[in-house]
Amino acid sequence: MTAASSPDQVSGQPGVGPAAADLTPGRPIVFRNATMLTMDDAHHVLHGADLLITGDRIAAVGPGLQVPEGTAEIDATGGILMPGMIDTHRHMWQTAMRGYGADWTLTQYFVWNYLQWGKSFRPQDIYAGNLLSAIEAIDAGVTTSVDWSHGLQTTDHADAAVDALEEVPGRFVLAYGNIQQGPWEWSATPEFRDFVNRRFSSGNDMLGFQMAFDLGAPVTTHAGVRGATGDDGIRLMYENGFMTPSTIYVHAATLSADSYHRIAATGGSASVSTESEQSAGQGYPPTWKLREHGIAVSLSMDTSVWWSADLFSAMRATLSADRAREHLEAHGQDETVTHHYLRAEQVVDWATRGGAKALGMDSLTGSLEPGKKADVVLIKNDASPVMFPLLHPYGHVVFQAGRGDVHTVVVNGRVVKYDHHLMDVDLGKARQVTEQTVDYLQGELGPDAWNEGMHPEIPEARVLENPYTYTYTEDQGPVS
Ligand SMILES: [Zn+2]
Repeated sequence: MTAASSPDQVSGQPGVGPAAADLTPGRPIVFRNATMLTMDDAHHVLHGADLLITGDRIAAVGPGLQVPEGTAEIDATGGILMPGMIDTHRHMWQTAMRGYGADWTLTQYFVWNYLQWGKSFRPQDIYAGNLLSAIEAIDAGVTTSVDWSHGLQTTDHADAAVDALEEVPGRFVLAYGNIQQGPWEWSATPEFRDFVNRRFSSGNDMLGFQMAFDLGAPVTTHAGVRGATGDDGIRLMYENGFMTPSTIYVHAATLSADSYHRIAATGGSASVSTESEQSAGQGYPPTWKLREHGIAVSLSMDTSVWWSADLFSAMRATLSADRAREHLEAHGQDETVTHHYLRAEQVVDWATRGGAKALGMDSLTGSLEPGKKADVVLIKNDASPVMFPLLHPYGHVVFQAGRGDVHTVVVNGRVVKYDHHLMDVDLGKARQVTEQTVDYLQGELGPDAWNEGMHPEIPEARVLENPYTYTYTEDQGPVS
């Protein structure tokens, strides 16, 4: 942090943190004096608490911890310490086209990616998107991301996706998919089996594997997407024994009660991408329905082609959409909601523990408890007027804090961001490969298709006849 600090000074000086260079992998780390959202089973919130990391694990949690000699101390005073956030569905390969589809509907997304231009992506374009997205994730405190990678037209594309994920010190799950072929085609090839054997046989918990199928089988599937996948898909999966506790139903927004019953009965969970459902049109963000069926929830961002890729936005949008629906339903009955059902605490759970449970990683990550892997986020920003007073820590995370307040991120015991700066990450390289992909795709599309893709036609707006006229003159005031 300061040029003057040396390894000898890193302990015990309140307010003065270690230099970034001193946070070497393997060195024990202690966060001091945090407001801590443990997200343990009882959701304990600790005040003035410390958290000690040794190796890749959380060693101890509590006030005034004794720590091994040489431990680096990070002052968490005024900050919130929470588990690393978990995104259970993100199409990372699309990130090189960040923001391009801001005004798209789902139809425009499907046409652009599935029918027109998705097949233009080369392995190096998948690499560029994944590299940028992976860096973005850890920068925003998302320590585990499911890369819902359905742009893998060949195993060369898949190798490129994994190369990028392995370059960034986050925890990732590759969900393998290919929108250009049926899953029965690509998953049956010898190249696919060879890829899985080569890249996923080590049992490394930093990089997991899922199958990303739609309209078919598990483990993660876009289900309940209005106009695309619906109750028939759920019924077929159920009848063929494909619904298991590890199945993640992405969006799950437009399903019948019967489908929700089947999901609940088989123990699966929903990955809710509220920003996505709100603007693409898969259906209303379903948390208000899911709770009627006792279906577990995790959160996700879907794609940076449209939306932000930080879970602060996901938490905020999800809480707001749920409450908006409650009010709307009540007003339809001429009733008033006097007490909100969904609380900030619950959406913080969904962004952390809910994701860990959905991915079968709950024994590994998702809460700040001794013995778990050290995936930890410190939200602290002494330069911000928004970080005090800190009265309702869950509410502060959801409605006050943002990605710019992420001070320190630890993944698997390694500090990957400290004092608001990423460590050991080559952002310059990510910028360069992203520029190359954008240049290439601009060339493939040509200027007209590029512009049309970014700016879909606006339907004609109908302005209602107004029975009133209103004019204002300086002399006479309002005249009607
Ligand atoms: Zn998606």
